[in-house]
Amino acid sequence: MVITLVLRVRAFRTECRSWFDAASARRQLMPARETEAIILKTFPLGEADRLVSFLGRSSGRVRGVASGARRLKNRYGSTLEILSHVQIWYVEKETRELVRIQQAELLESFHKAQSDYGLSTGLAVISEVSELVLPEHEVSEAMFRLVLLAAREIERTGDWTLPLSYFTFWTVRLGGWLPRFDRCSQCGTPFGGKPAFYDARHSGLFCEKCRRPGMRSLHLGARNLAERFTGERLDRIALEKPMQESARELREASLAWIEHHTERRLASRELLETT
Ligand SMILES: [Zn+2]
Repeated sequence: MVITLVLRVRAFRTECRSWFDAASARRQLMPARETEAIILKTFPLGEADRLVSFLGRSSGRVRGVASGARRLKNRYGSTLEILSHVQIWYVEKETRELVRIQQAELLESFHKAQSDYGLSTGLAVISEVSELVLPEHEVSEAMFRLVLLAAREIERTGDWTLPLSYFTFWTVRLGGWLPRFDRCSQCGTPFGGKPAFYDARHSGLFCEKCRRPGMRSLHLGARNLAERFTGERLDRIALEKPMQESARELREASLAWIEHHTERRLASRELLETT
């Protein structure tokens, strides 16, 4: 009787072990992936971990868990700061949508922008817009380069006015949401030197006659700036005083179209007005 029981326990143990072996072999078979990435967002997860959303150059937007990232001494250091440019290694799990982040190395830090409240507001807008417009696991080389360029320029110039205007305008353009800038979406009348009008409830740009109540204006200066953004590199455009207002108008119109097309409100948008 005792012998049979012992034998049964042994058999059960062997079965368990082979099941575990098979499971760990399966885990080992999933190869670690590696990609250049930009950290979009991180949230505390449990006592010690962090939930991380990143935009991988070769993976698209991915969410994963960085184990132990909240411990005082952890191997991630400052790699998981907002918009940090990193090399990241992760393992995909078959059944879960969250990947397991194994390692991250800093390629480029935007320390000045990350540690300054005013500048970090600009980074927060880039992060939130990217989260909103990019579907998970969809590679977008153009958006990857756009996010990186905007973050670099905020860091380099210490001012988000132009980079944010450029980033939001190009996001609308890459999304295929840009209305015509030369004539009214409704009646086709050319704007000429007159202001055009927009709001977050419509996708177009309207003339004085077709404008709806509450619409805001987009003057010729802002439309000309959009023209420059399509033809010139951001780091070659210098911010001159008269451009401030045009950059603001173009950014606000672009954010309104992003909100219209994604049917979401951007929380970080209001922070811009206060910094
Ligand atoms: Zn019209």
